[in-house]
Amino acid sequence: MNTHPAIVVYGSINIDMIVEAAHLPRPGETVLGNDFRMSCGGKGANQAVAAAKAGADVAFIGRIGQDGFGGRALESLSKVGIDTSRIGIDPTSHTGVALISVAPSGENQITVSSGANAFLSKTDIRRSAPALAQARIALAQLEIPLSAVCEAAMLAAENGIPFILNPAPAFALPRDLLELTSFITPNESECEILTGIRPDSKSALGKAAEQLMAQGVKGVLITLGKRGTYFATAERHLLIEAFPVQARDTTGAGDTFNGAFAVALADGLAPEEAIRFANAAAALSVTRTGTHDAAPLRSEIQSHLA
Ligand code: ATP
Repeated sequence: MNTHPAIVVYGSINIDMIVEAAHLPRPGETVLGNDFRMSCGGKGANQAVAAAKAGADVAFIGRIGQDGFGGRALESLSKVGIDTSRIGIDPTSHTGVALISVAPSGENQITVSSGANAFLSKTDIRRSAPALAQARIALAQLEIPLSAVCEAAMLAAENGIPFILNPAPAFALPRDLLELTSFITPNESECEILTGIRPDSKSALGKAAEQLMAQGVKGVLITLGKRGTYFATAERHLLIEAFPVQARDTTGAGDTFNGAFAVALADGLAPEEAIRFANAAAALSVTRTGTHDAAPLRSEIQSHLA
């Protein structure tokens, strides 16, 4: 167990149940699928695993149910060295699950039951304070209650450490939270939901980033898939290009990006360099299938950057 994690991730943890089928079911239809697999997911868990594989000591703050799925989820995090000792076990709810059907085209249909994730409380966040006391970065997404995310942002500010917010899934956010956010990392559709601006040109990207900064965010990273990452602060705006690769499965690119960005910042890199590190990690992840398995190791990221 890492008593002094460099990164504390506040987020969701689910068990994904994935069935491959010849086509996605229409309403009322039962489809007999083919292969079935179960894996640990949830944006929080995915980003924590990406950060741990990229070489950081990571502590995870979240909630699971008192069921077999919870044990399985803990095992997936512990396997890569994540400190799971502060994950709460909820006696009244189940571990989050995602039911996923995938068609041969790669199109999917996903239904999530958040279960215990939805009950992560401000008290749970406060209890995690000792983990944050010596950490260098806090990272959160929006698959847990907004009140818990706000509390995590406040705790990070009290400890004087940067707070990264991956606004997924996106919805209008309170100014209080944005003011406590050091870096916000929407993808294109999340950027449009947050700002009402479709980021389809350089000037639109600039306007969207300015709008987020006007609400108090210090740094904006808009991830643009194979085009890379648009980065803006009060001083500068720039596009940091993606690493060209042959993509096989882009699921989880954003999660790998966020986990790796947190690691590079915790290592003391400047934000532009941290984005290059994260772009390299995410590019490697899209050349592989799966999510946790696709996240690259630190040595792989470093050779890709060399
Ligand atoms: P997802 O929802 O699939 O996890 P996302 O929509 O949150 O992903 P993207 O903007 O698609 O996130 O990608 C995140 C980062 O991953 C990009 O900024 C880029 O660095 C990298 N990336 C994504 N797709 C590619 C690609 N085809 N080639 C190289 N890098 C990629």
